[in-house]
Amino acid sequence: MKKTSLVVAISACLTISAHTVSASVTDQDILNDHKMTGQVVTNGMGLQGQRFSPLNIINTGNVNKLVPIWSFSFGGEKQRGQEAQPLIYDGVMYVTASYSRVFAIDLKTGEELWQYDARLPDGIMPCCDVVNRGAAIHGDTIFFGTLDAKLVALDRKTGKAKWKKKLGDYKAGYSITAAPLIVEGKVIMGVSGGEFGIIGKVEARDAETGKLVWSRPTIEGHMGMLNGKESTMTGKKNATWPGDMWKYGGGATWLGGTYDPETRTIFYGTGNPAPWNSHLRPGDNLYSTSRIAFNPDNGEIKWHYQTTPNDGWDFDGVNEVVSFNQDGKKFAATADRNGFFYVLDREEGKLVNASPFVRDITWAKEIDLKSGRPVYNDDNRPSDPTKSGDGKKGKSVFAVPSFLGGKNWMPMSYSQQTELFYVPSNEWGMDIWNEPVSYKKGAAYLGAGFTIKPLFEDYIGSLKAIDPRSGKIVWEYKNHAPLWGGVMTTAGGLVFMGTPEGYFKAFDAKSGDELWKFQTGSGIVGQPITWEQNGEQYVSVLSGWGGAVPLWGGEVAKRVRHLNQGGSVWTFKIPN
Ligand code: CA
Repeated sequence: MKKTSLVVAISACLTISAHTVSASVTDQDILNDHKMTGQVVTNGMGLQGQRFSPLNIINTGNVNKLVPIWSFSFGGEKQRGQEAQPLIYDGVMYVTASYSRVFAIDLKTGEELWQYDARLPDGIMPCCDVVNRGAAIHGDTIFFGTLDAKLVALDRKTGKAKWKKKLGDYKAGYSITAAPLIVEGKVIMGVSGGEFGIIGKVEARDAETGKLVWSRPTIEGHMGMLNGKESTMTGKKNATWPGDMWKYGGGATWLGGTYDPETRTIFYGTGNPAPWNSHLRPGDNLYSTSRIAFNPDNGEIKWHYQTTPNDGWDFDGVNEVVSFNQDGKKFAATADRNGFFYVLDREEGKLVNASPFVRDITWAKEIDLKSGRPVYNDDNRPSDPTKSGDGKKGKSVFAVPSFLGGKNWMPMSYSQQTELFYVPSNEWGMDIWNEPVSYKKGAAYLGAGFTIKPLFEDYIGSLKAIDPRSGKIVWEYKNHAPLWGGVMTTAGGLVFMGTPEGYFKAFDAKSGDELWKFQTGSGIVGQPITWEQNGEQYVSVLSGWGGAVPLWGGEVAKRVRHLNQGGSVWTFKIPN
């Protein structure tokens, strides 16, 4: 009798201490994020980036009952595009907002716990709005990148900075908008700035101290770093770049990476080669417009797949690489700015399948499955201004898709339930011509002019369900304004996505039928998430119109001029 009560007393004691010890995000939590429904601790809702939740409490039968439980304003005079994906951990939402801000929000009440403001210098040069796409979490630290190209580590309890590391000179055009990636205790981060002739790179730092472990430039000829020493050169100098052009060659790694634990591979996409005028840099211009597989231990390149060699249209192929297994094989899929949906063997980077996912593509006839290269329509490449026209402006061509892409940054989702990809795409084209240009630090380095135009009267945006086995489009939802937000799927048979018109929508994953919508008050360009707490399923998304379309969209920007800015996060559930 006495013995028993002692055991009870000890276990009660242990329970209390387990509650007082602060929870802390482990590598295991991160590895299992796609299965752990009580948290969202990775960008992509899992390291592989599938954005699929096994939750089915909210499903096709009851999603019409979904209502908001709180909305949180990012406040201030600063609004603009809100592109982030929130993180959920230990009763708190961690979310980034425009102008390099981070908020911690109490999940129960929607009240602010703390705010961190990066206080940006004058003279930052974000190409495509002052957005931020999300934070990362490891241990008790929140990580995020700033528009002046710093990686910042914050104490998750207080929001106070632990360390800051500069990844590039903002005066030369470097900035950061992507969410960091955590792999085995290292923070992995890339850089933006392809329109200013920066050099893309991916870097790994110790999450505790911020100390650089490795750095891998993504343009050939530049030297890598490992443990404080030069490691290996990226590629071979001048193999695919003429003269000194590689020194300002772009290849920005401006979107976050993904990680595949099954092959221990980090994937990043790389942006356009600089400048846009392709006649100034004859050659493939490696490793621009590529998907690159990195060794997480030393940053060496395992393989690469280039989607648009010698890119002449700003088909800035940073698009996310999503790992998935089908028929016992390890694949990766990516939907490119250039309008083609690619399936690769993710162990070797070999092309398995490539198919157009937007209509009337002009720049290439097809992707040759044997060589993996596009079959170009040579007359759809904007001409060399030194050989045609008056020397100042080359011949203009109408190219589809526009440089804002068949798909831009906004992430697609893979449903393990339907085995389909859900791709937020846009149908538009552009007049594009080349101009002479030379590199000048901190100045736009394009050598091109352009006007983006809609193709159809009734829609530009198009959410497509794509079968990766065949490349066939199973269903399509057309949206008047261009889509600019991420997609999420769930085991409830649902697809969630927001629109620039302000609606947060749920679709039937099998049929594409629209089952629910809610007006959030400003355009949605954020990335939805879902999680479970006390047996209830929650869904959140940011609202706040902005991003590249209003800034670069030409005639399309006129079509969406009436859309109002905002800055908030909405959280929904089904009332019990
Ligand atoms: Ca670009």
